[in-house]
Amino acid sequence: MTNTLLILPGDGIGPEVMAEVRKIIDWMGARRGLVFEVSEDLVGGCSYDAHGTPLTDAAMAKAQSVDAVLLGAVGGPKWDDLPFEVKPERGLLRLRKEMDLYANLRPAKCFDALADFSSMKREVVAGLDIMILRELTSGIYFGEPRGIFEEGNERVGINTQRYTESEIARIARTGFELARKRDNRVCSMEKANVMESGVLWRQVVTEIHDAEYPDVELSHMYADAGAMQLSRRPKQFDVIVTDNLFGDILSDLAAMLTGSLGMLPSASLGAPMENGRPKALYEPVHGSAPDIAGQGKANPIACILSFAMALRYSFDAGAEADRLEAAVEKVLADGLRTADLTGPEGGTPVGTAEMGDAIVAALDASL
Ligand code: NAD
Repeated sequence: MTNTLLILPGDGIGPEVMAEVRKIIDWMGARRGLVFEVSEDLVGGCSYDAHGTPLTDAAMAKAQSVDAVLLGAVGGPKWDDLPFEVKPERGLLRLRKEMDLYANLRPAKCFDALADFSSMKREVVAGLDIMILRELTSGIYFGEPRGIFEEGNERVGINTQRYTESEIARIARTGFELARKRDNRVCSMEKANVMESGVLWRQVVTEIHDAEYPDVELSHMYADAGAMQLSRRPKQFDVIVTDNLFGDILSDLAAMLTGSLGMLPSASLGAPMENGRPKALYEPVHGSAPDIAGQGKANPIACILSFAMALRYSFDAGAEADRLEAAVEKVLADGLRTADLTGPEGGTPVGTAEMGDAIVAALDASL
């Protein structure tokens, strides 16, 4: 099967970190025979400058036709005053919406060498490896009715939490499938104590579990208690599956357990395509970092780890994903640190390209 990949470097540090991913892609082709058909296009502010829109129809069509899309970052002060419908972020939102990417995967993994960067104590986070799975296309951010209305002599703001059975079932299945490839445990979080949508969520997750995934260990937790447990004893979890709103909050909380924004990858997956691979968009969690753009200072690891997720979830190359993650672990253990990772314990300061080259060297050494 050919492996098709669309690269959308975007704005700010996006092209800088993507240049390092290109090195890894080339390495996988040359040294592992894992060849990618790569195309590249514009997204965000740079697309607006060239075409007057943050994502052209042609780029959108390309995204729909490839196995995976890898995006850098979008936005920056240059485009802050643009009308809402052509803001850089609209390009990203269009991709997520039209590809119907309902499953957002946010791993929170604490590399041993960086455990002191966490706001938590080392023993709480060292060795942490959990996955927050957030439902991304439904729930309170999309439910109707919504708006600000007049009611009597005052205004009322309304948003509606709404989940259908099939929406819950498909995200539950993604959670159980993920768990089977990890530590085989899922914790589902909602507020079934106070919300009917939470009651249905718990019922459907349990039904899917009992009928299709009885081998996976399933537990349930109220989302507020989950937040407490995540900050108290995060290593008790493997996969956490939750809705759009709670997932938004819990994934940011989990991210901060691990330290720097420059280290965090993500994936958003949709339904399987004809070739069995899911629609997929991979991107670092960070933005375009205009304060350091163009200076060769950005940490490329979040984008490189996003590519590792693409290897694992789109290209059936889990062993190469493991190899790449181990290479990242090695350069960190060797003390290499981009500016965002320099702390009291010192280390060797490196720029974006040096970090990418060191990861390629660690890949070489792994053979
Ligand atoms: P940001 O993530 O761009 O930056 C926050 C801070 O983290 C900055 O100090 C930055 O220098 C640092 N940082 C981020 N990534 C880094 C990396 N890889 N290496 C080293 N340091 C890194 O968030 P922001 O400053 O709030 O937003 C800047 C722009 O990015 C805005 O236009 C915003 O709309 C956009 N944004 C885009 C995305 C996206 O493309 N997915 C996400 C968030 C923000």
